Formats: sequence, structure tokens, C-alpha cells
Amino acid sequence: MATSLKLGLAGFGNVGKGTYDVLKRNKNLIADRTGTDIEVKRVVVRNPQRVRPLVDADIPVTSDWRDIVNDPEVNVVVELIGGIEPAKTLILESIAKGKHVVTANKALLAECGNEIFEAAQKAGVNVAFEAAVAGSIPIVKSVREGLAADDIEWIAGIINGTCNFILSTMRDTGRTFSDVLEEAQKLGYAEADPTFDIEGIDTAHKIMLLSAIAFGIPVNMDKVHIEGISKLDPKDIKYAEELGYRIKLLGITKKSDKGIEVRVHPSLVPNKKLLANVEGAMNAVVVKADAAESSLYYGKGAGGEPTASAVIADLVDIARTAEVHASQRPKMPTVSADKNVNHWTDFGDIVTSYYLRIPVEDKPGVLADITRIIADNGVSIEQMIQKEAPTKEKGTEVILLSHSAKEADIQRAIRTMQALASVRGPIVLLRMEELN
Ligand code: NAP
Repeated sequence: MATSLKLGLAGFGNVGKGTYDVLKRNKNLIADRTGTDIEVKRVVVRNPQRVRPLVDADIPVTSDWRDIVNDPEVNVVVELIGGIEPAKTLILESIAKGKHVVTANKALLAECGNEIFEAAQKAGVNVAFEAAVAGSIPIVKSVREGLAADDIEWIAGIINGTCNFILSTMRDTGRTFSDVLEEAQKLGYAEADPTFDIEGIDTAHKIMLLSAIAFGIPVNMDKVHIEGISKLDPKDIKYAEELGYRIKLLGITKKSDKGIEVRVHPSLVPNKKLLANVEGAMNAVVVKADAAESSLYYGKGAGGEPTASAVIADLVDIARTAEVHASQRPKMPTVSADKNVNHWTDFGDIVTSYYLRIPVEDKPGVLADITRIIADNGVSIEQMIQKEAPTKEKGTEVILLSHSAKEADIQRAIRTMQALASVRGPIVLLRMEELN
């Protein structure tokens, strides 16, 4: 007999409408393929009048999310409202009533996931969130199930299409960040308030969730180092290109003997790596695991129907596992009363290689001072080049690529170099990821 899910659909924006449309269009296909009959029982939005004509007449469309929670027939709540409240209360109250939850809300899960996953564990229901990370790419399932045999070493991803579109366009055109951001807003790739995207916060939410799944840790946004792309100078994109690298905003999580690190920052990626060639608004994630070794996942990280595809895949999983004991269902991230229980790597202890752009005076001895300071701090230089012909007024710029070094060591070297009278402006630091 077919399993039946009766959905309370909260939110009918990009993803909510996408989910409704795909469910309707592919109803028979999904039922045949999975033995799952998925029926939208009711819809809740802020403005029901707008949505009423878009939904079949027999499905109630109302404005109070409690209508979903209080409907005893609704057995799965699909939260596609976004933001913290009322999404959080809707989810917690639904869990309390024994309803499973599917959500695309990365901000909520990264900030409040421990409370939500703990409540779900206690209630014996599932909170599924494939759509919260990298849209249509089944990365949560791949890490949790496809790589279930493996010890995962690191994950690195381009998981914000807005930033990747901006960086690709800056590289292609040589235009400034603010100029390209404006274009991205006109094209609908960036929100009117783009802060979450461009300052790396959205990427941080997603990589935190992937870290939690890969390493079995509670979510803890306080431990994520976050730098966005808003201060990136087109000059560094150009220089990186000349040196054989592309700059990408990466979310990175890694396990080492120092602990677990989670970080987001613009990174130089060798241009022969597949990840460096992910262009425009596309997303991609590389997972390095001990047995499977390196695997790459590529696809649309946003958009109504691409994201709906992940929402519906979660619904199918819920239908398949609804009758089994909670311990046999796909595992949710670990919950712990103490978010700091794990050993997190101090940011100063991370090890990577570095790109420095150092504006200096054109006079003898300057390069010798720089190399001495770098060496004194235990960092070794892979390449050092002078990019522009020096002039007396403007001086010149030195680009330095380091071998692997500790963040604390390179930061100490930068502080010392910055104090030199011959260094004429702020030193630019970017991290390099060889992804080996
Ligand atoms: P959206 O287009 O802004 O739609 C939000 C929907 O939620 C609207 O239908 C809105 O109602 C409804 N809503 C807002 N506040 C509400 C409230 N208090 N009570 C009831 N309904 C309320 O958002 P979206 O782009 O679909 O994103 C939804 C979620 O998916 C977010 O968590 C987002 O981060 C995540 N996500 C989105 C994408 C994407 O490509 N857009 C990709 C991955 C994940 P009205 O229609 O009446 O305004």
C-alpha cells in the first residue's frame, strides 16, 4: 500500500511554489517510483490573496501558521518561510505534535539547530534539510549516506551562487565589486540587502551544517571564521589569474589532529582544479574522504524548482522511513547541551598557504627586510614577484606566495612587515587552497 504524506506547506515563494508545482507535475512519477503519495493538505503564507489563484481550489490557503500545526491530518510540515521567527516556533510546535519537518532554512538550522534536532530526537520525528545546503545538489545525502563508510577529511564548497556570479564576472570583465553587485541585483542574483551573501554568512551557515553532518558535531556558529568578498580588489583577481589561480569564496571544513575547523573566505584555487572552473551562479562541493578519496558534486545551488527537487527528495525519504524506528532513519546532526564540547581548531592554528600583496617603497633593502621577517616567523616563500614597474611616487607592489604555514605565524609576520616604514599601505592577505 502506498505511504501517504499530508503536507502543511508554510511559504509559497520561490521554493514553496516550486515545490507545489513539481509535486503536482510529477505526482504520478513520484508515486510510481517511490510508492509515496504526497498530498498538499494546506498552504500558509502572509498574503493568501496572492497565492489563492496558484493553488487548487480544494486546498485551504490561510495566513496563520498555527493552522498547519493544529491540523491533525498534516503529518509533515514543509517550512519554506525562511528567517528565524516564526519559522522556529512553527517547527518546534510541529515537532511537539509528532509531525516530521522538511526545511530549506539554513540560517535557522545553523543558528538554532541543536534545539531543533534535540526536540526532534526526543519526539522521534525527522527534520530533513537537503535543500538548505547547495539547493539541488544532494550533498547532505551524499555525505551522510553515500560516504557512510568513510572517514571524511575535509569538505570545500562554492555554495553561494551570488558570490560566485560576482567573482566570475569580476574576473571576466575586470570590473569592481560594487559595480558587479549592482548588476547581480538587477539580474535577480543578489537580494536588495545582499549582506548575508556577500559577507559570507550564508556560506558559513551551509558549511556549518555540512561540518555537523560530516564530523558528527553540534552546530556552533561562534566557531566559524567568516570573511566575505566585499573588500576584494579586482587587482588581486587579475594577479591571481596571472599566477594560475582563480579566486572563489569557499566554505571549508576540515578535521585534523588540532580539531575541527570551519571557515569561509575568498581563496585562491589552482585554475586546473575543477572547482576553480565553476562559474556564474553554479555551486560545487568537493569532499575528501579516506576511502572514496576525492568526489565532486556540481549543480544549481538555488532557484525555485532546483531547490524544490531537494525538498521533495527529503519528503520521499521521510515516507520511506516513517514506519521504521528513529534509530534506523538517516541520522540528524549530533546534539549536545554543550556546544563547545568538541575540540575546535583555534583559527591561529589552521594551516594553509598564503598570497600576500605588499605595497612597498622602491628602494634597496626592502625585499631583504620582507624575506627576513617572513623567515623569522617560520614561513617559507614559494614565489615572490614584483607586479608593477616601480616609480618613485607610487613605489611598487610585491606579491608573495607562501608554502603551507600556520595562520598565527603569517599574521605575526604581517604585523611586523606592516610596521616597516618602507611598507606604504595595508598588506592584502588571501588564503590559497591547493585542494589536494
Ligand atoms: P520567499 O520567496 O521570500 O518566500 C517566502 C514565503 O514565506 C512567502 O510565500 C511568504 O508569504 C511566506 N511567509 C513569510 N513570512 C511568513 C509568515 N510569518 N507566515 C506565513 N508565511 C510567511 O523565500 P524563498 O526564496 O522561497 O526561500 C524560502 C526558504 O528556502 C528560505 O529559508 C531560504 O533560505 C531557503 N532557500 C531558498 C533558495 C532559493 O533559491 N530561493 C535556495 C535554497 C534555500 P507571502 O507570499 O505572502 O509573502
